Order: sequence, then structure tokens, then C-alpha cells
Amino acid sequence: MNNHLQQLIDLSIVDKDIDAFEPQIEEANYNYEAALAKTQSIESDIENLTTEIKDEELKKSKNELHLAELSQKLEENSKKSGEIKTEREMKSLQLEEEIAKEQVTFANEEIARLEKIIEAKKEQIEVAESSLKELTAKLESVKADVDAKLENINKARQEVFVAKEKLLGTMNQKGLAFYQKIRRWAKNTTVVVVEDQACMGCHMVIGDKVYADVIKGEDITTCPHCGRILYMKAHEE
Ligand SMILES: [Zn+2]
Repeated sequence: MNNHLQQLIDLSIVDKDIDAFEPQIEEANYNYEAALAKTQSIESDIENLTTEIKDEELKKSKNELHLAELSQKLEENSKKSGEIKTEREMKSLQLEEEIAKEQVTFANEEIARLEKIIEAKKEQIEVAESSLKELTAKLESVKADVDAKLENINKARQEVFVAKEKLLGTMNQKGLAFYQKIRRWAKNTTVVVVEDQACMGCHMVIGDKVYADVIKGEDITTCPHCGRILYMKAHEE
């Protein structure tokens, strides 16, 4: 086989190997990023719950203040009741007292309701904090795992880069430029095999003349339909 053609085949294999590292790196990072995202989401849940608790506590203290005012009023009323002279005054005072007592009941109910809400939210925070603790511990081991994987990938990638550099050093510049021009659009199918007289890049049948050239492998032959570089797999014994 033509030496230049062989070099292009080798280069296409090396380039394919280099591209294959990207998804490996992404996959390794994905595990860590997913765990990190989960941690951040729990942290923001805790933050939101804390704000909500503050709001509920503010409502509760408003009700407590109101309750204090009401009890003061009731106390004043009971003092006044000793000075009552007419039945009208008495009725009016009784009415006031009834209203105040109703308000006391309502405020107490409201405080109890708010306390339940606050309690529930505090429990939610506790649950969130304990899963956050677990996750943070796990995150460290995930990180270590990812770092180890990335180191291995980088080592392997470095080796492939060295192989590519070595190959590029021996290649002729014209052939390389030709290859790179096709690779811009054809990516990892720049150099493809011919099977059953068809280009395995575009899957179209090639004419007899081109097919004969590909079989000979004396020149660099391209597919007449798509322009990819063609070659025959070595004869299988
Ligand atoms: Zn083709």
C-alpha cells in the first residue's frame, strides 16, 4: 500500500482515539457534578426553610403582642366593672369583654397553628441537614474517584498525543492539509473502508474504475460521491 495512504489511515485512527477521550472525561465529571448539584439544592432548601421559619415566627410574635394587649384590656374592664352604675354601661362592658375573649381564643389558635408549622419546618431542616452531611462525606470520595479516573485518562491521552506528533513528523504536508480539509466536515469518518464496492462514509456504490484504484491502493483515492478518503481493509487470511 502507498505509504502516504497508510499514514492517513493511521492518523485517522489516532484522531478517533483522541476524540474518544472527551465522552470519557465528561462521564467522569458528570458523577461529581451531579453529586455537587444535589448538595447545592439541599443547601438552598435549608436556606428557604430558614427564611420561612423567620416569617412564621414574626407572625407568631405579632399574635403574642396582640394577646398581651387583649389581656391588659380585660384586666382594665374587670376594674371598671366595679364602678358601673347603669345597666346600659354593664351591657356595653359585657359586649366588649365577649369580643376581647373571642379575639384571645383566635390569637391562641393562631399561635398554636403557627407553632405547628414552625415545628414541621424545623423537622424538614433536620432531615435535610442529615442528608447533606451524608452527601458531603460521599462527595469527597466521589471527587477522589473522579480525580483518579481523570488522571488515567490524561495519561492515556498524553500517549496518544505523542503518537500523533510522531506520526505528523513523518507525514508530507500536502497530504496532511488534504486530510484536514476533509476532516473539518467528515470528522471521524474522514478515512473510510470500502465494503461490497460501497463507500462506508456515504454508503453509495463506487464505480468500477475507482474501485479498482482503491484495491490497488497505489494512490490516495477519494469517494466520487462524498469526497472521503477510501481504502480496502487488509486481506483477511
Ligand atoms: Zn462516500
